[in-house]
This record gives sequence, structure tokens and C-alpha cells, in this order.
Amino acid sequence: MKRNSIKIAVSTGLVLLAFVLSCSKKNENAAVPTTSCFPDITFSSISDDLILGRQIDSQIVATPSEYPILPRAQYPVAYSHLERITNNIKNSGKIGNKDKLSWEVKIIHNDSVLNAFCTPGGYIYVYTGIIKYLDNEDDFAGVMGHEIAHADLRHSAKTMTQQYGISMLMNIVLGKASQGQLAQIVAGLSSLKYSRCHETQADENSVGYLSATSYKCNGAASFFEKISAAGGSRTPEFMSTHPNPDNRVANINAKAKELGCNTTLPNPISQYTEFKNSLPK
Ligand SMILES: [Zn+2]
Repeated sequence: MKRNSIKIAVSTGLVLLAFVLSCSKKNENAAVPTTSCFPDITFSSISDDLILGRQIDSQIVATPSEYPILPRAQYPVAYSHLERITNNIKNSGKIGNKDKLSWEVKIIHNDSVLNAFCTPGGYIYVYTGIIKYLDNEDDFAGVMGHEIAHADLRHSAKTMTQQYGISMLMNIVLGKASQGQLAQIVAGLSSLKYSRCHETQADENSVGYLSATSYKCNGAASFFEKISAAGGSRTPEFMSTHPNPDNRVANINAKAKELGCNTTLPNPISQYTEFKNSLPK
């Protein structure tokens, strides 16, 4: 009996130790600590986000005049680079909803638009304009980290809930919405106004995600620095709700300092040049 008690005690101890270890391991991979936003509600569950995102994606694909998607079959090299960069960030161990979202990426062929956006469910769209505008892969990874954060933190579902209301979004999820309602949402996608707090969270999470990759972690700041230096006559989604890009650069760099992550070593530029050269001229 005594030996059994010891066995039980030892095995209970091992279970507790395993639990403690798994907790501490989990903490290492915990989501990036960021600014809290209130109120921060969404219309429904993450599986509903996926259904909504899939419906919106179908509508985007069916609207080539507004969203001319670069055909994957004709541009496999461009898509392989975009997916490689996305996967580098996805595999950072910092994405809370990594296994729950679709993470489908599409390129929109419009060189005059410096933008990227995401929809509920983790569908991400990147314009050729922003890929060509940026100088290296680390800076582009910063932008992708920002969009991946909007998806991971469900910002588009939360913002759409505020903008369109729960019943309209649920109608779309349940297949009861009119074509006009879906078209209305799709038409407003690239100008969806996130709150300043959501933008701050996306910037901070971009740094946090990239801190666990080989990219320099403050890549997101480069976009603001470059557009600010050029006078910034075009206002993409990244700048739409924040009047002062300098504040965002300072905030991104402060987060990098707080995390103690690498801000200097750029990846070889050659792969990014190949990415840019694989796009239509
Ligand atoms: Zn944003």
C-alpha cells in the first residue's frame, strides 16, 4: 500500500510537472502582448468568420472590374513568393488563430494602389502596387504582419459588426442576404475603417510576429517612413485612420525595443527582386 502511495505521489508529481512545463512552454509562444481595445466585439464565432470570408471572397473574384485578381496559373512564381513570406510569418509561433483561419492570399493587379487588406476568416489581398513600392522583403513582411494581425485578432469581423450590424452579417453567413448586401460589403472592403486602437494592435503584433522570424521586426515602420518622405498624397488603409505616420513609426520602434528584437539585418534582397520581377510589368 505504502509503495502504491509513493507511486501515486510520484506519478501525480510528474503530471503536475508536465502541466507546469506545458504551461510555461505555452507562455513562451503566447500571443504578442498589445494594447487593449474596447469595445471589442464581433458578430459571431470564428467559424462564422470563415463562412463570411468565403462568401466575400467569391464576390471579390466575381468583381474583376474592382478587384482584378492576378491569375495564379499564369503567375505561379509570384504566388510562391507571397505564400513563402506569409508562411514565414504564420510559422512564427505567435499567431493565436493560426490553425483556425483560411490564410488564403491573393494578388490584385493594380500598380497604382499601395494597399493590402483582409476579410473575416483570414483571406488576405495584396495589391501589386505595394509589392512594387517596397524595397525589400523585410519591409513587405512588416506589411503582411500587419494584415495577418488584423485577421488573427478578427479586426475585420469586429469592424464590420459595428458598421453593418449583426443581423446583416448573420444573413450572409446563413445564405439569406441579398446580392446587393454582399456587393455593398465588398465595395467597402478596401476602405474599411479600423479604429486607431486596432491599427496600433496590428502594428504591435506585426513586430511581435516578425520578432520570431528571420525578418527585421520593425519592417512595418519602413512603409510609413517611405510614404511620409515622399509626401504621402495617396492614403492607403494603413494610414487611413491615423493622422500621423511618425507616431506609428515611433510606436513600432518602441515595441521592437521592448521586445529586444532585431531591427537591422535585412534579408537578401535578391528573392524580393525576383518576386517583383515575377509580377506583370
Ligand atoms: Zn491596418
